[in-house]
Amino acid sequence: MERIHSGPTSASIDITYNCTLQCLHCYNTSGEHKTNKKELSYDEWINVIKDITDLQPVYICFCGGEPLLKKELIFEATNLLKRISGITVNMVTNGDLMDIETAYRLKDVGVS
Ligand code: SF4
Repeated sequence: MERIHSGPTSASIDITYNCTLQCLHCYNTSGEHKTNKKELSYDEWINVIKDITDLQPVYICFCGGEPLLKKELIFEATNLLKRISGITVNMVTNGDLMDIETAYRLKDVGVS
């Protein structure tokens, strides 16, 4: 029997307000580098990710700000999401911090 998906289709997570660029068109003013904005800690984010896996979205997207400013968190969160469930993980990046090693690690943990 076909399983009916009852959770949300997607979750979009602004993992940080900070960004390496300052685009004029930035819809959430990430480029203004407002360091007074309080952000969740690594452990708080991991708890949020675990809660999201309970909701079983079809896919989640890490965005921001520039998500690769929190590379280790992206790697660990994706690991968790893939291990606990089959959630598809996407990411929006400006590419500024992308290098070969990062690209391979993203592929290895399962970022689409
Ligand atoms: S790269 Fe994206 S998040 Fe960063 S300032 Fe530009 S539009 Fe905003």
